[in-house]
Amino acid sequence: MQPFPVPPDEIPVGGVWQRGRGSASRCVDPADGSVVASIHAADSAQVDAAAAAGAAAAADPAWRDLLPHQRARLLCRVADAIEEHASELALLQTRNTGKALAETSALVASAAGTFRYYAAALETLEGELPPRRGPHLTMSVHEPIGVIGAITPWNSPIASDAQKIAPALAAGNAVLLKPAEATPLVSLALARLVHAAGVPAGLLSVLPGPGSVVGDAIARHPRVGKLAFTGGTATGRVLGRIAAERIIPVTMELGGKSPTIVCPDADAESAVAGILYGIFSSTGQSCIAGSRIFLPRAEYSAWSRLLTEGAGALRLGPGTDPSTQVGPLATFAHRDRVAGMVDRARDEGARVLCGGRIPDSPRLAQGAYYLPTLLAGLAVDAKTCQEEIFGPVGVLLPYDDEEDLVAQANATAFGLACGVWTEDYRRALRLAQRVEAGTVWVNTYKQFSISTPFSGVKESGLGSDKGRLAIRSYQRQKSVYLGLAEEPIGWALR
Ligand code: NAD
Repeated sequence: MQPFPVPPDEIPVGGVWQRGRGSASRCVDPADGSVVASIHAADSAQVDAAAAAGAAAAADPAWRDLLPHQRARLLCRVADAIEEHASELALLQTRNTGKALAETSALVASAAGTFRYYAAALETLEGELPPRRGPHLTMSVHEPIGVIGAITPWNSPIASDAQKIAPALAAGNAVLLKPAEATPLVSLALARLVHAAGVPAGLLSVLPGPGSVVGDAIARHPRVGKLAFTGGTATGRVLGRIAAERIIPVTMELGGKSPTIVCPDADAESAVAGILYGIFSSTGQSCIAGSRIFLPRAEYSAWSRLLTEGAGALRLGPGTDPSTQVGPLATFAHRDRVAGMVDRARDEGARVLCGGRIPDSPRLAQGAYYLPTLLAGLAVDAKTCQEEIFGPVGVLLPYDDEEDLVAQANATAFGLACGVWTEDYRRALRLAQRVEAGTVWVNTYKQFSISTPFSGVKESGLGSDKGRLAIRSYQRQKSVYLGLAEEPIGWALR
């Protein structure tokens, strides 16, 4: 492998790259425990400086007065820059998160596509002229909010960062991005490309550090006019409370415990491949992981055998090995958390069908690996079936009929995604309507398109990301009345 350049310990604060003044944090490669880089966190004074510079840059006529097609051109240049540096970005993210290179390469491509998509959306979005109701013409216009606080998790940083930065910039704002503490490297690299592409540097600050310190300072900063959050539901509640106190808008993409449903007529090869991908790709560290797998009771044993054989055959290894299907967990602490949750599942009475432990291969001994795990024998209300594990752990659950299935699938506080495997499109549509989820995949799973809105229901989120109208969620609406009457308003006349 090529020598890996150690990223500099600098963060962009209001247009100036500098050393963070908070505590230092080591970015560790979870495939072997080696230190990839050390990055100092931002402190509250740097958050303040970034917010002031962001507000000034957003209000600067050089940015504020750009026409949509001019701003779009800058976004396209960012997309070009990401594509030019695609392999470095993918490797950086693999080294920092453990994800397989094939996955991080897809995330980098998706980030470039996101910038290009919002450039196109910006150029083609139209305003509204509501019907006239009097002697005036009303225009509904959309204006930037000013400074956006974007807070993202560690599982897919470049894609989740781009999904916030691109529509926020398209909408005319500045962004303060707070990446996850353990995985800031690709977000910092993205900022360098955004600046190099000609986006005024004050418009994008990247402020790594602990969520309860740096994230909290961003969320409470008086200049921040909207919060765009992706992460866990518990953090979402904290940020929702701050947004409520400050009366600012917030969008939240939160956790999940998504059902994947096998119907009796499902095509076995497609269903098994899709279910394994849905729960074990990204080593299960995916908000939309299909972690509750519903099987028809009459054929439970046959499906269970197929899935267990498939899970047992998955290839574990470092993300940099092209043959790897399941990489390490993103951090050693998270691997230990996942192991603890499987131990608790055993205490709840779970049978471990496969995995359920750290692999014993010497080849994997230095990394944060955990074997793909399938559990059975739990009731749908067991803690293991209710709480997000965010690791390579799926639970098999039998169902009797469609009523029982829908009741069990919806018996969760979450509502992020659902998979349905059936050849019967009527049944597919019925289930798609009845299962409470923001996204339903039929005969596929974990497919994404930037042009399709993404949201969670129940405790999985608030508002949508993606799609053309995401730009509007980073803007304020204003109504302008142009009086057309030739005569003064009669009320004040004597
Ligand atoms: P997390 O909620 O712990 O952290 C997410 C981000 O919030 C991090 O940057 C963190 O530093 C910050 N943060 C934490 N506490 C904060 C606070 N008090 N104030 C401000 N910021 C704070 O989540 P995580 O462990 O990084 O990520 C995993 C979670 O993210 C899972 O629940 C997963 O389902 C969810 N997720 C959801 C989606 C989605 O689109 N719905 C996508 C990816 C991940």
